[in-house]
Amino acid sequence: STIELQDLVQLGKIGSGNSGTVLKTLHVPDSRIIAKKSIPVENKPLIKNQLIRELTIMQNVKTHENIVGFFGAFYTASTTNEIVILMEYMDCGSLDKIMSTYKSFVKRGSPDASENWFNELVLAKISFAVLNGLSYLYRDYKIIHRDIKPSNVLINSKGYVKICDFGVSKKLINSIADTFVGTSTYMSPERIQGSVYSTKGDVWSLGLMIVELVTGEFPLGGHSDTPEGILDLLQRIVNEPPPRLRQSPQHSREMVDFVNRCCVKDEQERSSLQELLCHDFVEKGRSQGDREFRHWCKRIKKRLKEDKMLQREENERAKLVK
Ligand code: ADP
Ligand code: MG
Repeated sequence: STIELQDLVQLGKIGSGNSGTVLKTLHVPDSRIIAKKSIPVENKPLIKNQLIRELTIMQNVKTHENIVGFFGAFYTASTTNEIVILMEYMDCGSLDKIMSTYKSFVKRGSPDASENWFNELVLAKISFAVLNGLSYLYRDYKIIHRDIKPSNVLINSKGYVKICDFGVSKKLINSIADTFVGTSTYMSPERIQGSVYSTKGDVWSLGLMIVELVTGEFPLGGHSDTPEGILDLLQRIVNEPPPRLRQSPQHSREMVDFVNRCCVKDEQERSSLQELLCHDFVEKGRSQGDREFRHWCKRIKKRLKEDKMLQREENERAKLVK
């Protein structure tokens, strides 16, 4: 069942990143919600053709429980030059969104934020899902993700964790927009230094992401969006010791060991996807706490809604004051 653009009605904006904008849409013929991502592209045949070729690779990826469903890609040549990607809508959003919602609950002093929402069961579920998705993409399609970060890990209220935005090469993305601006970078040291990129680069990114979810901060320190600030961060990734987690009453030995195997600067010494899939922490994420996790996802969805409402009220009030 292919979806046609003309059958989609826009319901609202979900978010926008470096490369484009994501809208929440309704597919009218079967009343299904679909996420529609638009990426403006330069009107150069070479870039367009390559992009379309890469998108057809995505089209061939068969459904997997840890990969966001793909419903098609279009190139709209009419008034605007853009690539449109249709994908499964994930109703609990991305990890960065959940993280910022948690922070706004903390700021409001909500009792709901008395402890970090990203407890170890949740982190184990996320770790397993990301590794399992990555290993599927590589095993069956030789696709390396290359852009694992909180905004590319999505959750839905049925209790699924899925990765999205893989496969499109960075060279092309760079031709679309400056990828560094506005994001913390999850790139591995070897990638920054221009070595061959393997799936272990994604392992590094996953490690950083888990540390960020545990501590609430991007582990390698912030950076300003100036070229100097970005260069400074890249230099820190290459030259400074990697982030570590220390064992404590809050952090189990298994989780600390898992993270510290991901955050290894030397690619050779870093664990592989397959090794990590056998790790105790990840095994826990695979086999335990399904009911509890589903419950967690439902709760997250409620909290996202609540946060959105409160934010709207705040905006209204601010307008009245003016
Ligand atoms: P980035 O990943 O760099 O933030 P994107 O354009 O890929 O930029 O996505 C923008 C935002 O839209 C993401 O941060 C995420 O919160 C949200 N998003 C993307 N895809 C989906 C989806 N399929 N379902 C729900 N939310 C999504
Ligand atoms: Mg994204």
